[in-house]
Amino acid sequence: MDTAGHHFGPEADETRQWVERIDQIIGRLHAGLDSLSLPVNLIVVSDHGMQSVDDGEVDLSPYIDPASVRVVLEGPAAWIYASDPANVEKAYRALKRKSPRFEVYRRTETPAEWHFRENPRSGDLVALVNQASVFVLNRPQEGREKARRPPPKGEQVTIRAGSKPCRRFFTRSDPT
Ligand SMILES: [Zn+2]
Repeated sequence: MDTAGHHFGPEADETRQWVERIDQIIGRLHAGLDSLSLPVNLIVVSDHGMQSVDDGEVDLSPYIDPASVRVVLEGPAAWIYASDPANVEKAYRALKRKSPRFEVYRRTETPAEWHFRENPRSGDLVALVNQASVFVLNRPQEGREKARRPPPKGEQVTIRAGSKPCRRFFTRSDPT
């Protein structure tokens, strides 16, 4: 279901068919548990919601010096790492207020509710899109042509705002 959502978009028929399939499976599980009359709580969670990537890609290549930082892209987020603090600051200045399409934060200055500040895996810098976009690095990778995947049609594109379509899902049912 997640793969279909990323690939085809959250509103696509392919994604709807997966939602229906998962719904039937959970329905069968629920009915089976009910028939056992055992004290079982059924909890269903998701790791993220999704919305359509309507505003295309944001290429970070013009702002990034690949010799001084490492960039890990994850859809609407980019995690930027550098072992030398001077390179972190250089990258921050190269990104800060350079485009209305994204924001960049020093990890230590991210909003506390994101829980990034104390986690070095979050990157020394964190960049997030401001719109329904995903980050890409279009610069060819050191001589080898990087296989270019088609851009995703669905993503958790506004994780910063915590917008409704991108919220996580949690539901439970208690034994009857
Ligand atoms: Zn996903």
